Amino acid sequence: MFDSHVHAGPDVLDRIGDDLDVGRAFGLADFSGFVLKAHYESTVGRAHSVSKVTGQTVYGGIALNQHCGGVNPAAVAAALSSGGRVVWLPTADAHTQRSAGLPRLCHHEARLPQHAYAIPPVDPAAAGAAELVLALVAEHDAVLATGHLSEAECRWLSDRARFYGIDRLLFTHPSYTVPGLRPAAVRELVEAGGFAEITAYQLLHQPGCSPALLARVAEAAGDKLILSSDAGQPDSPMPPEALEMLIDVLAAEGLDRRVLAAAASSTPESLFRPA
Ligand SMILES: [Zn+2]
Repeated sequence: MFDSHVHAGPDVLDRIGDDLDVGRAFGLADFSGFVLKAHYESTVGRAHSVSKVTGQTVYGGIALNQHCGGVNPAAVAAALSSGGRVVWLPTADAHTQRSAGLPRLCHHEARLPQHAYAIPPVDPAAAGAAELVLALVAEHDAVLATGHLSEAECRWLSDRARFYGIDRLLFTHPSYTVPGLRPAAVRELVEAGGFAEITAYQLLHQPGCSPALLARVAEAAGDKLILSSDAGQPDSPMPPEALEMLIDVLAAEGLDRRVLAAAASSTPESLFRPA
């Protein structure tokens, strides 16, 4: 199995363990590897180190939040040129996070500006930076992940990804509180290209989430489904257990176990693997 969305320490938030603790847990659970995500720094160097120690396939990338100047092509160029495999559009500092009252970097340090990031069509002024980010992702054949941006921005990214020839497009947990997409919208987006993610975090922590709702989203995604843990919180199970639990819960809803297994192994492995 392969977990394409994992958090570990060091982080500005408490985590269940550091990169090596989490890597060892995946080793014990016989996973081939994982993608290390952090909201507030590039994980490219960290992924390289943990991969070297554990022998697993570990990928890193960068999330375009306030720590790196938001939708900042310079940060993307550095992360991708040094081996990063994924760029997440704004997550914790996205404008949706502010509207939904979810935690942001400025909540950890009150003297920081209350910045919230958006791209077209929500923020047309960000078009130049966003277009350059997409061009860089295309040139490096990396994964473009939509982060916590809204449905309108996901649609803009879908259109522009096609323009740039990006075929590694991942709609980050579209049915989470942010962006809060309905299964029909998920179906429409993946039919136009890309993959849709469901996370164990949703099942564990998302208000109003249910196994039945996640099953509808999984059906909408079809073979474009990616299952990941998004775990690493101290009050979640260790990431491998969290991902296995998600598969069991969706299987109990009647979904085909072979499809679920692929969504947590071969599908994300080939999405992130460099050509
Ligand atoms: Zn996450």
